[in-house]
Amino acid sequence: MTTAQQAYQELTEISKETQLIDSIGSLLNWELETYMPKNGAGLRAQQLSYLSGLAHRKFTDPKIGELLDIADSNGVAVASHSDKAINLREWRHSYDREIKVPTELVEEITRTAVVAHDAWVQAREKSDFSIFLPDLGKLIALVRQKAECIGYKDTPYDALLDGFEPGVTTAQVKVWFDNLKAELIPLLRAIQAAPLRPKTEIVHRHYPIDRQKIFGQAAAAAFGFDFGGGRLDTVTHPFCSTLGPGDSRITTRYTDTFFNESFFGILHETGHGLYGQNLPADAFGTPMGDPISLGIHESQSRLWENFVGRSRPYWRYFFPRAQQIYPEALGDVSVEEFYFAVNEVKPSYIRVEADEVTYNLHIMLRFEIEQAIITGELAVEDIPAVWNEMFEDFLGIPVPDDSRGCLQDVHWSFAGFGYFSTYALGNLYGAQIFAKIREDMPDLDQQMACGDFMPLLDWLKVHIYSLGQRYRSMELVEQITGRQPGHEALMAYLNQKFGELYQL
Ligand code: ZN
Repeated sequence: MTTAQQAYQELTEISKETQLIDSIGSLLNWELETYMPKNGAGLRAQQLSYLSGLAHRKFTDPKIGELLDIADSNGVAVASHSDKAINLREWRHSYDREIKVPTELVEEITRTAVVAHDAWVQAREKSDFSIFLPDLGKLIALVRQKAECIGYKDTPYDALLDGFEPGVTTAQVKVWFDNLKAELIPLLRAIQAAPLRPKTEIVHRHYPIDRQKIFGQAAAAAFGFDFGGGRLDTVTHPFCSTLGPGDSRITTRYTDTFFNESFFGILHETGHGLYGQNLPADAFGTPMGDPISLGIHESQSRLWENFVGRSRPYWRYFFPRAQQIYPEALGDVSVEEFYFAVNEVKPSYIRVEADEVTYNLHIMLRFEIEQAIITGELAVEDIPAVWNEMFEDFLGIPVPDDSRGCLQDVHWSFAGFGYFSTYALGNLYGAQIFAKIREDMPDLDQQMACGDFMPLLDWLKVHIYSLGQRYRSMELVEQITGRQPGHEALMAYLNQKFGELYQL
């Protein structure tokens, strides 16, 4: 007979094996985006679907359910809050989600997504939604089926959101977003009405790419990103991929006439990379060695990119260095002019280029549209019209075409419904955590102005990175800050920063 201890041991081994398979898949994905010759796409698709099938089968084996029952037959382990309890809790959560979805449905979603992705690429190129419409319709029908299989209390969207941000409900996100929106739109209107404008031409001068690489790499290293355990490469759509202990890879893209794109992109991905590099290596392969959620991950990328990288103390240190490396572009610019230019607030069409104020409005629009699609209130063919109407209402500018509207993001083409909200949750969690860091570290601004980011990194290691999945996202924020997550800290930060910049 298997004892509880043996069952736990066996689960740990299976979990580690599944993680190794996933990390091999991540490496293949990274290579696909960076160096793979284009004719290799067919073979790569086969390799990746083989690996994901292998991992899925391993983790949905009915034996896992039996082992989970044996490992915690009386519920004592899970109640104990030990590392073992956390692992059992999270294995149970993933297993219960995954076994409810039949393998045939998982495979059909994967196959449909491959075709839908191609259709989306073409549709976006030609700015023609009708090219994407049939495959998107199929994907949505399949995703709805998946939500029904998983089950939910209030709305099918809950089942999808839970896959990206465990424990957070649609109703909760709606409260946060409604509160945020009620204060964000007046702030945006006040900024638009303000007479002050930054000299944004500064960031559109000539920035040679070879120098951008050196400067970006130095900025990542200054944050504590370990290049002995990581790399920086060039791709079309930047991302960060943590393969496991000792190997976190960040990526960026360069434009020689735009400073912000690669520089802030690198700071953003460095934030993700620091989380990955500082997870507990000895727990690799179990939930205690994993990041908590996409929302917490994003809180780290936005923290390093915006709360640190777009702050005045940061540029007090880095601007003289930027002037040294780009004397032609920045020789006649003051640190204040530069700081204002990299913090311009201006409604724009593309989410990934949005500033700190308008970014969240882009997410709220997607959150509302996705819910309506999943519940069936919004017909797939009506997406462009509804998108355009809401966009103008939220951001005050008309959408010129679908490639700058509802076709701009890749997420729907891989069936990633429920993903978008985690970006804004990252801002919300990040702001609340950063406010607490300011309380704990009264010298933070002076440290940043001297280029010393190690005390900040150490704080984050202790309070977040080293904890693996000990807490769910909302619990972590409450644990750290003593309050449930809310919109207040983010609004206080935005009102203070932009009120001062635009002299509102
Ligand atoms: Zn990110």
